[in-house]
Amino acid sequence: MADESSRMIEPVILLGPPGAGKGTQAKRIAQRYNIPQISTGDILRQNVKAGTPLGRAAKEVMERGQLVPDELVCPMVADRIRDVDCQRGFILDGFPRTAAQAGWLDAYLENEFFDNSHGCNRLPIVIRLEVDYNELLRRLTGRRSCPTCGRIYNVHLQPPKVDECCDIDGSKLVIRDDDREEVILERLREFDSQTRPVAEYYQAKGRLKTVNGDLPPDEVTGQIFWIIDNHGDNHG
Ligand code: AMP
Repeated sequence: MADESSRMIEPVILLGPPGAGKGTQAKRIAQRYNIPQISTGDILRQNVKAGTPLGRAAKEVMERGQLVPDELVCPMVADRIRDVDCQRGFILDGFPRTAAQAGWLDAYLENEFFDNSHGCNRLPIVIRLEVDYNELLRRLTGRRSCPTCGRIYNVHLQPPKVDECCDIDGSKLVIRDDDREEVILERLREFDSQTRPVAEYYQAKGRLKTVNGDLPPDEVTGQIFWIIDNHGDNHG
């Protein structure tokens, strides 16, 4: 196989609800293709922490759990993807969150980001991880953590050796506040209303690839790599 860690690939966007496995898959993509994973949430949090003008403008909106305005987020993304480590490709995590951001990204990538000498398709590869709703609930509600050492378990997928007790120090495992079922339902509802328009935007353009996120993680990874490796073939 050609060296995947040195070739140019199109920007990759992973869409999917909390619990779909985006974090795991993004790390594997980043490693195989040797490209950075860019999380808009992380960049915003760093700005808030550092007290930059962007951070000061975004802080309250973020605390309310609302979206930071496009006028702030889009230039921030533009800045980041101009960095030299993004030249061969990058994975976007948490962006685009709205159809307007998706439209902005397409226009930016087509008109400003790549020059023609790159000779590769400029538009992002958009992969949606689709997971059965009940399976998502099972993954999210099964999460337990150890209050002493912080180790994370899942009672369905990675159970402790003794029911509800930490393998390392024997502490009784707890459910974190944001993993309670009411909160999870709210997070999933919010995700759905926020990101459905993004999926619809790419679907309408015939560019949405869907992978069954119920499959074992290695199979999901295999399908994602296949999509990325074969993407250019469809677009010349
Ligand atoms: P996340 O870590 O992706 O959950 O993002 C944390 C917070 O950052 C979100 O609740 C938003 O307030 C903000 N944020 C992250 N990405 C975006 C985006 N693409 N557009 C607007 N706001 C964002």
